[in-house]
Amino acid sequence: MRDSDTLRRFVFEGLPVRGYVVHLDASWRALTEHHAYPDTIRDTLGEAAAATMLLAATLKFEGLLTLQVQGPGPMHLLVVQATHRRALRGVARWHGELPLARPSLTALSGGGRLTVTVEHDDQRSRYQGVVPLSGLRIADCFEGYFARSEQLPTRLWLTAGADGAAGLLLQRLPSGASASSEELEHSAASGDEDWSRILHLAGTLSEPELAALPGGELLRRLFHEEDVRVFEPQPVFFRCNCSRKRVSGILRALGTGEVHDILRERGAVEVRCEFCNRAWQYDAVDVARLFAAGDPVDGPRALQ
Ligand SMILES: [Zn+2]
Repeated sequence: MRDSDTLRRFVFEGLPVRGYVVHLDASWRALTEHHAYPDTIRDTLGEAAAATMLLAATLKFEGLLTLQVQGPGPMHLLVVQATHRRALRGVARWHGELPLARPSLTALSGGGRLTVTVEHDDQRSRYQGVVPLSGLRIADCFEGYFARSEQLPTRLWLTAGADGAAGLLLQRLPSGASASSEELEHSAASGDEDWSRILHLAGTLSEPELAALPGGELLRRLFHEEDVRVFEPQPVFFRCNCSRKRVSGILRALGTGEVHDILRERGAVEVRCEFCNRAWQYDAVDVARLFAAGDPVDGPRALQ
């Protein structure tokens, strides 16, 4: 059995290199089940979902991480959100005809940018990093993001299809401080050697292997001559944070005039969540209550 819907952390003993391997299965199918994505969009979204879980795993935060890809191309918007508890949701939007063969990410998004936002639960701090979209696939773009924002050499391998998405991340951490500059030079040189050997081994991984092999077995196959410590797998799951309270907030923001217009036209107001496809219904009584009550409007947060 493969490790379904899990994230595994691993370290190379004695080397400043760590990694994560993620498999999205039921969580991935839940994320896509209400959307008729063309294969190209679906696979790009799957790779982005796996990459977002991997990025979330490398960061110290308690809150919500949002990945957003925006550009003028056929795939004009892609959003994936992950919490520190490994809850995941995501959506992609596209227009027009898509080529049958998968185009590069740059062509699919028409350039544009990749934005990573981390909002902490305590709402005291917020981080945002933006990099231009480039490269063939999401993995290339993420490597650019890590180089620029984290300044840690990082490599990713990603794959996605109808049934699942998976990813492997390797990251080189700063070496421990040495006593002298000579020692520092020596440790940097041996660190370079270790890092390139590990990358070389990981480079033999094929996409079908990444998709099909359980995390532990995948790491044994790739790094059987290395001293790798693999930690217990942690569950990953799909969860949407939409709620009636949040939808009410959106409708109030829209204004009483517009909401009453919709009510007159259609007899009821329905708001459908684009992440989970849940429909939120408001009849005439609900709408009247919405604008009479003055209930506090929910904030823009919380995917627990
Ligand atoms: Zn939802």
